Amino acid sequence: MKTERPKIAKIFTDCANKAKSSTNICMYPNCNQKAINSHIMQKNGILSSISDDKHLWELSVDHFKQEYIGLQRKGINKIYTFTGFCNNHDSLIFSKIETQEEIDFDDYESCLLFALRTAHNELWLKEVVIKIQECIINHPGVEMNNEMLKETIRQNKLGIKDLEFYTNSMWSDLSNKTESFVFEYREMVLTQLCLNSIYTYDTSQEIMDYQYKYRKDMERTSEIFISYFPYLNKSILLMGYHKDDTSKVKSFVNVFFKENIKRTNRRLSSLITFNCETWVCSNSFYKEKFEGLDSEFFKAMQFSGKNGNERKTFDVDFFKPDFKKNFRDFINKNVG
Ligand SMILES: [Zn+2]
Repeated sequence: MKTERPKIAKIFTDCANKAKSSTNICMYPNCNQKAINSHIMQKNGILSSISDDKHLWELSVDHFKQEYIGLQRKGINKIYTFTGFCNNHDSLIFSKIETQEEIDFDDYESCLLFALRTAHNELWLKEVVIKIQECIINHPGVEMNNEMLKETIRQNKLGIKDLEFYTNSMWSDLSNKTESFVFEYREMVLTQLCLNSIYTYDTSQEIMDYQYKYRKDMERTSEIFISYFPYLNKSILLMGYHKDDTSKVKSFVNVFFKENIKRTNRRLSSLITFNCETWVCSNSFYKEKFEGLDSEFFKAMQFSGKNGNERKTFDVDFFKPDFKKNFRDFINKNVG
């Protein structure tokens, strides 16, 4: 259904386009070159392996619709990209995992490069979101709760500061051959879906409780870097966390690698459906699993925004044949 406020939708869309096109400086330390549009996950060998018709599907925003988040089909050259690095650094940094040779997931640096790209895409997204919000605040035609918007901007800026703790460690690892992160990986049955996401271990409730108790923001949230992608007829699940966070997050991460495949599949499904927005899937996977569920995905996003406990695994499993029905039932029951 179309939005009842097309003028506002146009302002939001214009602000978003402006924010995206102006966030385009290479994120390599001390580089000021203009960034090129590059894939979050390499096209060759990974994205191309699941795009039988040179297209993929992703969750994207359309402000002209009432339920403004839904799955959209886009060409492989345009989809799953961001302007993060200049041409020189984009090819230089990632050559180890993008050349034709097989990727060695026991190699620390190779794993780090996946997390590095995920982290920078997330940094880029946060910068874009802040610019959109600042653009809206300064726009005379929009009546919004400015205090709330200012608080959201402040939170996003804190998020950038937190993320920079991780990206600084990553750059330092790359240049000094140190290992500040722990990575785990697992080979799974091929699923035509590719995900690169950051998962905040601390739940919204915990972050709020901390603020309430100590009257200040948490020093830093604990972030887990997740990549789940098709590679050589299997799917690889790769997760990493900072060594400083070991005592806090290790057992949570290990569950994904120690439990049987069935349980891990359910965990992944819940994570992708409720917690992560940065993923793409093939046309056939979309048809089989997600077609006709736009409204459910929109409601799932709202549900997880209010839920407060992002570590909870919900009973939806897109590896099962009755996923569509189960997901609809879940949303009907919990959101309406
Ligand atoms: Zn550069």
